[in-house]
Amino acid sequence: MSGHFAVAIDGPAGAGKSTVAKRVAGALDAIYLDTGAMYRAVGLYMLRNGIALDDTARIARNAPRAQVDVRYVDGAQRVYLCGEDVSAAIRENPVSAAASAVSAVPLVRELLVARQREIAAGTNVVMDGRDIGTKVLPDAAVKVFLTAAAEVRARRRFLELQAKGRAVPYEQLLEEIRQRDHNDSTRAASPMVQAADAVLVDSSDMTIEEVVETIVALAKSRVGEARA
Ligand code: C5P
Repeated sequence: MSGHFAVAIDGPAGAGKSTVAKRVAGALDAIYLDTGAMYRAVGLYMLRNGIALDDTARIARNAPRAQVDVRYVDGAQRVYLCGEDVSAAIRENPVSAAASAVSAVPLVRELLVARQREIAAGTNVVMDGRDIGTKVLPDAAVKVFLTAAAEVRARRRFLELQAKGRAVPYEQLLEEIRQRDHNDSTRAASPMVQAADAVLVDSSDMTIEEVVETIVALAKSRVGEARA
């Protein structure tokens, strides 16, 4: 073993992956890579350029122009699209559906997966997404599939948006989450599935701290075993 380890955290939208993965990375002294942010940046590119989200041929043709870069500023991940910091813009609600649409296009996945592997090479990493344990880092020491009931995830998103002063109806968010789950798990290219060797963690009735502790303990025991 090279001395570096990877923790893969996959699961549906709103399960708490990014909050959890960020804290796990802090506890394990690893970098954190939010791969969803990269799909969001490509989705934003298509929205800004008026490319229809159901025109997969045009999305594929334009994908190489959507230059996505990830940098770390004071330890926090920033996402750049063609040199512009879009870390805030990619969190706007319409970008979620755009990310889901572009993520079904094989060339988009190919370009982003290659970049994700480059970022992970030679460092300790905690990566979250949909296909990290199955496709991006199949040899990750620790794989977690983090999920929660759709209603719980929609409620969390509702409260998160409300705190930012955006009142999006709960029913709409629930419907969007169900739609995204459906798209992500039924697409032909790297669908979201739990890896055979992933540990399932259902966060519906757990606090963030409990989820973080569970994953950190798992990582410490697995990485310890591999190094022993
Ligand atoms: O994680 P987040 O909700 O920000 O991801 C946005 C979208 O990007 C997801 O709905 C999914 O379609 C796509 N995605 C993906 N593979 C990943 C990460 C995200 O297909 N590894």
